[in-house]
Amino acid sequence: MSAADLPAREAMEFDVVIIGAGPAGLAAAIRLKQVAPQASVVVVEKGSEVGAHILSGAVIDPVGLDRLIPEWRNEETPIQTAVSADRFYVLGSSGALRLPNILMPPLMSNHGSFIVSLGDVCRYLAKKAEALGVEIYPGFAATEALFENGAVAGVATGDMGVGKDGHAKAGFTRGMELRAKYTLFAEGARGSLTKGLIERYGLAQGREPQKFGIGLKELWQVAPKQFREGLVQHTMGWPLNNRTGGGSFLYHFGDNLVAAGFVVHLNYANPYLSPFEEFQRFKTHPLLRETFAGGKRLGYGARAITEGGWQSVPKLAFPGGALIGCAAGFVNVPRIKGTHNAMLSGMIAAEHVAAALAAGRAHDELASYEAAWRGSPIGRDLWRVRNAKPLWSKFGTLAGLALGGLDMWTNTLGFSFLGTLGHGKPDFATLKPAASCRPIAYPKPDGKLTFDRLSSVYLSNTNHEEDQPVHLLLRDAALQKSSEHDIYAGPSTRYCPAGVYEWVEEGGKPRYVINAQNCVHCKTCDIKDPNQNITWVPPEGGGGPNYPNM
Ligand SMILES: Cc1cc2nc3c(=O)[nH]c(=O)nc-3n(C[C@H](O)[C@H](O)[C@H](O)COP(=O)(O)OP(=O)(O)OC[C@H]3O[C@@H](n4cnc5c(N)ncnc54)[C@H](O)[C@@H]3O)c2cc1C
Ligand code: SF4
Repeated sequence: MSAADLPAREAMEFDVVIIGAGPAGLAAAIRLKQVAPQASVVVVEKGSEVGAHILSGAVIDPVGLDRLIPEWRNEETPIQTAVSADRFYVLGSSGALRLPNILMPPLMSNHGSFIVSLGDVCRYLAKKAEALGVEIYPGFAATEALFENGAVAGVATGDMGVGKDGHAKAGFTRGMELRAKYTLFAEGARGSLTKGLIERYGLAQGREPQKFGIGLKELWQVAPKQFREGLVQHTMGWPLNNRTGGGSFLYHFGDNLVAAGFVVHLNYANPYLSPFEEFQRFKTHPLLRETFAGGKRLGYGARAITEGGWQSVPKLAFPGGALIGCAAGFVNVPRIKGTHNAMLSGMIAAEHVAAALAAGRAHDELASYEAAWRGSPIGRDLWRVRNAKPLWSKFGTLAGLALGGLDMWTNTLGFSFLGTLGHGKPDFATLKPAASCRPIAYPKPDGKLTFDRLSSVYLSNTNHEEDQPVHLLLRDAALQKSSEHDIYAGPSTRYCPAGVYEWVEEGGKPRYVINAQNCVHCKTCDIKDPNQNITWVPPEGGGGPNYPNM
């Protein structure tokens, strides 16, 4: 069936449509119903259920939750492990230097925070939202923003039952139009519709480029003698070299669980670097390997994280809608925390939407939300740490850590010697040609502590309908060969944490293979491809990872 023959989409009308059931989208939905109980609010989520696509650390600062659900501490929630100890190390190849907590700026302290599975927290928030009358539709990807008279008028969900060749299969179902007075985009880091809106409305004009990291995570059940309930441990340094930014986290929580994660900043230069292999190597460090001895790896996944902070947040409001949470990029990078700000931004946006609805407005720009955030707790949180990431990028890990620490201290006292530093190039422009870089030899996995990518992806329970159009759109195949392959030696085969991309030799010629069914929706290819030649679009709703508790 060609596009012209498609039946018209059915449309439903709401006051507010929210894209994404992460902490930002759910906090916005709950706040809306708290302040405007009559408003009709719907949330669409591309994961098969709420939480299925959520991957985070996570140590959460409860400031957002305290404001949203003041009674949460008296309820049955998945927020059970309070942080009990906080350690930060700089790693060398065989040693580790622990930085005394007294040297750390107070804003880096994790005391008062909780270690959680963010997926489970989202499931809890979804129940609260539904109890207030919010409609949540998991398994539906929003694939298109709808426009009317220059304003966003809602979204359309994707058609289901389209074959690889683009034709309708048996059981084909047309997507729905979800029309709204206001649409809130809560797609998280590098949202696909958000990206289009930022371009269309020029929202990033006058801002520094958004920066990203790729975060890989494994969930382990460790031997009881290795478990330290409430321990939060961060590292920087080895196995990354001084010019490659990133670090690790290890959080002990729940029933002998350890959330182990590794973040590589996506402004790395060497196309031979593999974030996945760096993570595997990291676990072999003498400081860490004992933690995993006798344990079992239960889960694996990956997700991009925003790192641009204060100076990269785009304009948030446009006619008919707004960006909330990591779609805008509210992560406090040195703290590796974004959940509290995602929730706070959802709540602030909801309050401004409710006021607009009460005034009988629709489809206009929520200028008051735009004006509010920099003076809000989110702005204060991001302002104090705004120079940490630029300093790491400019001076490398060791000097950057010292200078960043100093700047955070002075900012805590209310001033900075540095003003507000810029980030420089966007992440796709930082790779060097392979000819000027050294290949990296990674050790083979042992299958006990270190693993390969495919057995890892298996643990993400990733599943896509196989007979559907590839959701990783390659704009120019010839450019991929002449540049990605010939100049950069195929970095996608290394940065993709799910082994989606391969260059295979066929008849003496390289051919690009895209194993789209393995995609864990981390969005790294959309960010890091050196020519911006790959665009991630949502596959059929419900496809992707099925994280039980990441
Ligand atoms: C490895 C890692 C570790 C982290 N550690 C911490 C930590 O310890 N503490 C902390 O506070 N923060 C941490 N963060 C950051 C934190 O996870 C984010 O700030 C937070 O999840 C942002 O919430 P959000 O609701 O904006 O987006 P997300 O949590 O990304 O949620 C977005 C939701 O929208 C859905 N969605 C996206 N596009 C569509 C679409 N088109 N249609 C339908 N649904 C869609 C997604 O499936 C997803 O469920 C970490 C992040 C990473 C990657
Ligand atoms: S294909 Fe892209 S979005 Fe999917 S897992 Fe690989 S890098 Fe991530």
